[in-house]
Amino acid sequence: MIDLHTHSTASDGSMSPGSIVELANRIGLKALALTDHDTVAGLDEAIDAAAQTDLIFVPGVELSALNEKGSLHIVGLHIDHESPRLASGLQRVLDMRNERNPRIVKKLEELGMHVSLEDAAAHAGGEVVGRPHFARAMVDRGYARDPNDAFARFLSKNGAAYVFKERLDPAECIDLILEAGGVPILAHPDQTGLEGEDLDEFVGQLVDMGLKGIEVFCSSYKSHLTAQYTRLARKYDLVRSGGTDFHGAPKPDIKLGRGFGSLYVPDELLEPILLTSAGTCGNRTHPARY
Ligand code: AMP
Ligand code: ZN
Ligand code: FE
Ligand code: FE
Repeated sequence: MIDLHTHSTASDGSMSPGSIVELANRIGLKALALTDHDTVAGLDEAIDAAAQTDLIFVPGVELSALNEKGSLHIVGLHIDHESPRLASGLQRVLDMRNERNPRIVKKLEELGMHVSLEDAAAHAGGEVVGRPHFARAMVDRGYARDPNDAFARFLSKNGAAYVFKERLDPAECIDLILEAGGVPILAHPDQTGLEGEDLDEFVGQLVDMGLKGIEVFCSSYKSHLTAQYTRLARKYDLVRSGGTDFHGAPKPDIKLGRGFGSLYVPDELLEPILLTSAGTCGNRTHPARY
């Protein structure tokens, strides 16, 4: 069993990179990827922790791309996380976030809620500060019952304090991951707001941009989605990936490796992914041939 989509305190998860690695090892996962939103800051800690275990650790990242409809996330697996070009791309992404955050503060202020940038940052474990951290700060201050309530009433797209965040376009996300030697993978396609023929056509466009994989397993999928995305993988010659999208406490029902309980991402998915990468990730937590 493997899990190739997880989040730590380096973005919006509640567990440190090292403790996720330890947990993965304890529950007997064969391989784990850490795929924090917009940052590679957690990877050194995870690599060090994984070096103490037999776990195969796959360095990753998850980028949010511009998309007309739902959310479009591209996961990059087996990246060289020290790639200077990836670093400068991620800095641009961080700048876009840091441009939005003060505007969220202002909107909340206009609504009579006093939540500072520092309040939100205090809930972030690293440099990535976003809506989930504002949601937690709002709960602290009594403006919302829980983070979901903060999103529902204020922070979600239809919420009163919503501020659009500039994002890279899908081709830029794919390029950055390729430049870092990684495998660009369409994460949870069900969240794109597309299905059937529309999704098929869209995946074709992403493949033209350099997409190399698709998540055929995720916590939330009903089995027909796994079958449907497996057909897309075959049609476009994409490697298949999968993971839980584990976040720890923010999504308490999603367990590492198991999702809502019945997820099982088979080991055999790993090797084609590693062989599709440029093999330049440079860490020694997996067999040298990759
Ligand atoms: P940001 O990148 O700052 O816009 O925050 C996006 C993150 O917020 C996502 O990865 C989710 O974890 C979280 N999120 C987005 N929408 C919701 C929602 N309606 N309820 C709870 N969390 C959400
Ligand atoms: Zn997240
Ligand atoms: Fe995602
Ligand atoms: Fe994710």
